[in-house]
Amino acid sequence: MNKTVELCQTLDELKQICLSCQNCELGKTRQRVVFGEGPSDAEIFFLGEAPGAREDETGRPFVGRAGDLLTELFAKAGIDRQRVFITGSCKCRPPKNRNPRKPELNACRPFLERQLAIIKPKVVICSGLVAAHNILDPKARMADVRGRWFDQQHYRILPTYHPAAVLRGTVKAELLVEDFQQVAASLPNV
Ligand code: SF4
Repeated sequence: MNKTVELCQTLDELKQICLSCQNCELGKTRQRVVFGEGPSDAEIFFLGEAPGAREDETGRPFVGRAGDLLTELFAKAGIDRQRVFITGSCKCRPPKNRNPRKPELNACRPFLERQLAIIKPKVVICSGLVAAHNILDPKARMADVRGRWFDQQHYRILPTYHPAAVLRGTVKAELLVEDFQQVAASLPNV
């Protein structure tokens, strides 16, 4: 499969392969694959964890309460959600919303890598520790990396909290807005 994925030149081609993927256990229990959505030339790539119940029902990323909050927090920072490509580290929902497991993240990584190669974003926002572990550092601690920039070869990564942490009351919304403002300030066209 990876060879075919690597040959995809557009998000549509990649999505067609992703929608029928059964490369990990999550393919057996999902309702819908959540490929991600947003412009194919987005400057901001927002990387979450994995779909939840609403996302699994609709096939769209961040559409539940956390998604509504994300839209609101982006707007407060001056970022139009429509200009952001939003996806997850795993494209299928883990049962009972458990965290995706390493073999599942590894199986799904070619889709993520190809999305990044096609879109060529300037900034990748890692939302939550699963995303930060997935593409930044498997040992990262949120307290150490949140709100800091990490330069990669083709883009910069900024880890921040997941909006669900705000809904749980463990993180203040203002911290995410601060981080999103940093992203907006780094991109004059956003
Ligand atoms: S999570 Fe990714 S690798 Fe696993 S079945 Fe879904 S699309 Fe395929």
